[in-house]
Amino acid sequence: MNVIKNDNVLVIAGNEKGRQGRVLKTYPKTQRILVEGINFIKRHSRPSQQNPQGGIVEKEGTINVSNVMVICPKCSNATRIKRRILENGKSVRICRNCLEMLTVSG
Ligand SMILES: [Zn+2]
Repeated sequence: MNVIKNDNVLVIAGNEKGRQGRVLKTYPKTQRILVEGINFIKRHSRPSQQNPQGGIVEKEGTINVSNVMVICPKCSNATRIKRRILENGKSVRICRNCLEMLTVSG
């Protein structure tokens, strides 16, 4: 996936289009991500230690990774990510806009 934890992303499709948030978690198998403050869903929960009352809690729900674009920390534009394999075999992510290298992953 081209999106990794702690990236800032811009939502480009769906109900939350135009909103931004930080990636809390990625699920590569399902190509879904959890973004802070985006796509709240209501869940019914039983009383627990954390939430003694139980009832309805709002929690972020996952969204498909294809519905977001990474915001480049260097040029602050929502950008498509290019991948390049370095000579040492490591894969880096490159901003298509300013061609800066983003955080290394995978
Ligand atoms: Zn950039």
